[in-house]
Amino acid sequence: MGDKVLSIYETLLAHYGELHWWPARTPYEVMVGSVLTQNTTWSNVEKAIANFGGKLSPEYVADVELEELTDIIRPAGFFNQKAVYLKAVTEWFGEYGFDVPTVQCEPLAKVRAELLSTKGVGRETADSILLYAFGFPTFVVDAYTNRLCGRYPIETSKGYEAVKSYFENNLERSEKVYNNFHALIVTNAKEHCKKKPLCEGCPLAETCGRYGL
Ligand code: SF4
Repeated sequence: MGDKVLSIYETLLAHYGELHWWPARTPYEVMVGSVLTQNTTWSNVEKAIANFGGKLSPEYVADVELEELTDIIRPAGFFNQKAVYLKAVTEWFGEYGFDVPTVQCEPLAKVRAELLSTKGVGRETADSILLYAFGFPTFVVDAYTNRLCGRYPIETSKGYEAVKSYFENNLERSEKVYNNFHALIVTNAKEHCKKKPLCEGCPLAETCGRYGL
């Protein structure tokens, strides 16, 4: 069964190549993007990040008035909530002196628990931050992952932690593999495994149980 996960990874990798995510310039920008992308499109996140006009840094977000931050991130939607969440994540990062290597020295489980108890940080956001900002080996599960599991199918138990463990248990424990695999799943979902699947030309078509149905 686990071979299925590996074979999907290898097939997607052979088709799309290494994707080198996340689309951000700094680890802090990844953190901000992970919060802002909740319930909106990436293009809206980009507009919100562009609104910082080069001032985006943890020091700036920590100091700026909440009202001003709210205005800056308005294009990302849910801006009142998200401004509070950004302040909270930034405060958490501040406990490490805004220093990425200091966070990386901590055990993954400890940092994950801290993020999960931070306002506005759910499992997907926490794992995105841990994987893409700090390089921790933790698998990110999102709606696209669940869609692939349902359609292919990959017979995992339901729920975020069960799906995450299933993928992690059937792959090499590697930040690079988890990073690429999540990016590959998202890319394939945007190209082929859309709400209404475009199976023709999908790299998984030969092995996917949904193909042709
Ligand atoms: S073959 Fe169709 S259903 Fe299966 S992964 Fe590809 S697009 Fe999705």
